Amino acid sequence: MNTSANPSTGASRQRVCILGATGSVGTSTLDVISRHPDRFELFALTAHSRVEELLRQCVAWRPRFAALPDAAQAGDLLVRLREQGIATEVLCGAQALCDLAAHEEVDTVMAAIVGAAGLAPCLAAAHAGKRLLLANKEALVVGGALFMDAVHAGGATLLPIDSEHSAIFQCLPEDRARWAHRIDHILLTSSGGPFRQRDPATFGEITPDEACAHPNFAMGRKISVDSATMMNKALEVIEARWLFELAPQQIRIVIHPQQIVHSMVVCRDNSVLAQLGTPDMRVPIAYGLSFPERIESGAAQLDFTSLAALTFEAPDFERCPGLALAWETLRGPEGSTTVLNAANEAAVAAFLAGTIRFDQIHSVIAHALERIDVGSAGHDSLEALLEIDSRARRQAAQFVKGLAP
Ligand code: NDP
Ligand code: MG
Repeated sequence: MNTSANPSTGASRQRVCILGATGSVGTSTLDVISRHPDRFELFALTAHSRVEELLRQCVAWRPRFAALPDAAQAGDLLVRLREQGIATEVLCGAQALCDLAAHEEVDTVMAAIVGAAGLAPCLAAAHAGKRLLLANKEALVVGGALFMDAVHAGGATLLPIDSEHSAIFQCLPEDRARWAHRIDHILLTSSGGPFRQRDPATFGEITPDEACAHPNFAMGRKISVDSATMMNKALEVIEARWLFELAPQQIRIVIHPQQIVHSMVVCRDNSVLAQLGTPDMRVPIAYGLSFPERIESGAAQLDFTSLAALTFEAPDFERCPGLALAWETLRGPEGSTTVLNAANEAAVAAFLAGTIRFDQIHSVIAHALERIDVGSAGHDSLEALLEIDSRARRQAAQFVKGLAP
């Protein structure tokens, strides 16, 4: 690793690049890093639309680089940084994210961009052999095989940040080469989302703000809607397939509203391993940053004496029709999960913009999956996957036009 010497302690520090620093995972990562100035040095921060927040972060952290997609916004940020005497270099455009993720001075990349836009920088970090902390689950859903090939070819260390996948990772023995035949299946837990007990006949009335009010986590708006439709869990099933090299039938879901058990591994001998804790993303983030060590995360300790009950129930596939699409697309032709992700992103954006109703999200996804033929398409390059992604978005957009809100 390219580590720098800490002038005060002489110890080496990891240089960290946070992709998506202004989001929920990005700011939680900064919170954990702020607790360990002896271990981590902030090298680069990237954002998309929240320029004021990025400016604030640059003033507080003084990273070597900051990046924004838009040249005018990047220019504005640069002027304002210089006015405050801050020397952070400002880059712009999508390529800047890849350059920073693969920069020779970076040790650790936190992939906290939302959506398929995160795939290219993740691939760049993987090829460059970085320690890659993956929150951006969509990157694996869009291009799982390509992504994992890049991780192996580049010698990267891929560490899951999604709380369920971090839990599975924490349950598995250090000797990971022998996981596969020790596991019967894994159980990904789900809160069930904010509408677990709501009458499905009223799903059409759900507003974006209601959908974004998650019971246990304050998250970005896209993942909040995904949690409400349970598409988040569908994406996580696909994510788990790639992270842990499991067959689709080895991945199951259980509803656990309290979100204390973050996921479980059921072994061949039916012994069950679970990881527990208060629901706080700083735990998986701290573990990813410090693995194989453990560092203080800022999360509250679990008080077992104050837990009323831990309950578990089966998921309701009728209430959440998108859930079954995880297994269907994993068993379908390669590229199907790319379509699933793109159509979901398009449908969620349309819902958040007030163009379609909550209960129409699934029909947009189902329509795109039905119409897009991925059989003949290539899937072995980023360009080929992005082509499928664009076709699915176009198909979804056309369908959305025909839907009345
Ligand atoms: P947010 O929406 O809060 O943050 C997303 C970040 O990505 C922001 O920094 C945003 O910039 C940036 N961004 C958005 N679009 C683009 C783009 N096209 N190109 C480059 N950057 C972009 O999301 P979350 O932090 O909630 O989630 C991030 C990822 O982590 C998602 O994949 C999510 O599924 C996953 N995750 C999140 C969890 C959570 O608790 N939040 C839990 C587990 C996984 P800006 O803000 O400047 O617009
Ligand atoms: Mg999760």
